[in-house]
Amino acid sequence: MIYENYSIFAVGPVSMFPETLEVGSKQTPYFRNQPFSDVVLKAESLLLKMLNAPIDSRVVFLTASGTAGMEAAIMNLLDKTDQAIVINGGTFGDRFASLCTSHMIPHDNFIVDDNDLSNIDSQFKINHHTALLVNAHETSVGRLYNLDAIGAFCKKHNLFNIVDAISMFGTDHIDMQKYNIDVVILSSQKGLALPPGLSMVVLSPKAIERLKDINIHYFNFKNYLNDGQRGQTPYTPAVTIILQLLNRLEMIEKTGGIESTIEHTKLIAEYFRNSIGHLPLEFYSKYMPNAMTALKPTDGKSALEIVNILEKKYQIIVCPNGGNLSKVIFRVSHMGYMTKEYVDNLINALNDIYHK
Ligand SMILES: *Cc1c(COP(=O)(O)O)cnc(C)c1O
Repeated sequence: MIYENYSIFAVGPVSMFPETLEVGSKQTPYFRNQPFSDVVLKAESLLLKMLNAPIDSRVVFLTASGTAGMEAAIMNLLDKTDQAIVINGGTFGDRFASLCTSHMIPHDNFIVDDNDLSNIDSQFKINHHTALLVNAHETSVGRLYNLDAIGAFCKKHNLFNIVDAISMFGTDHIDMQKYNIDVVILSSQKGLALPPGLSMVVLSPKAIERLKDINIHYFNFKNYLNDGQRGQTPYTPAVTIILQLLNRLEMIEKTGGIESTIEHTKLIAEYFRNSIGHLPLEFYSKYMPNAMTALKPTDGKSALEIVNILEKKYQIIVCPNGGNLSKVIFRVSHMGYMTKEYVDNLINALNDIYHK
């Protein structure tokens, strides 16, 4: 296998739990039957519970990566009568903006620098807007937005609130009711620590009411909701990943619930951050999620060079950045199966690179 013995600190796919690997090693079962429906229904109800979703919320299970979840949400829930605000703080905010452009959804691109939008109400001037699209944290630079403030802003101005929580579910706190969130987009390969290929779009009753009649097959949410009532999907789902999902959610429940899983990630992130204080590496954002840390070398070393040395000399994978940030920052994930010993591999390698 390629990269089999590497330590994975990439921001997706992330290091998977032993139990997830075990489920993945089994034959994929037949799925048009009650036992598999029960799996889907159980996974749905656990996801809704962990998100504190409003009563009668539902989950659409799509066999596709996270971007398909973003695109499908836009196609099913927005149209040309909308005026959306796109919070754009990097690559993934930009993706929401281009998806709106592709689907001809009128939108304003709200470019955000190092700011968590705690004061969004005074920062953005509302003008006939109907919806807001935000990545709970902007994974390209590791910046967490204040979902509480954004939710209050949406409530005050009656905005339909769509949150892409792909890279923070399971690592950082999210609460649909408390933060007035109407739609949450999730994907398997980030905070959930499963293989890539499954996306979930969580719809509140308000979102279900808003669903448009669209002339589209594969991504038509109404069909998913119909079949989902009995725990099925219109097309062959990522059966094995759904089995891994239920296993993971049940593990989270067994080990103290979602808040304690988040707490574990927080401890891991703090352990890493506290252990590299003596190195010439600066935190790129003031508003870091537990999920990851973006680091900027301050000694003139190229970030890309560090990424390459870690891979070639130490068999450690961290994430480079694209575009004009490629030499400036690199990203370290704290998502997935992480112990202090696992993180020590990276800390020791960084010390070695800097002769500390
Ligand atoms: C990873 C990620 C996505 C989805 O990317 P895919 O490659 O399509 O799975 C979307 N939004 C955010 C914030 C992400 O981190």
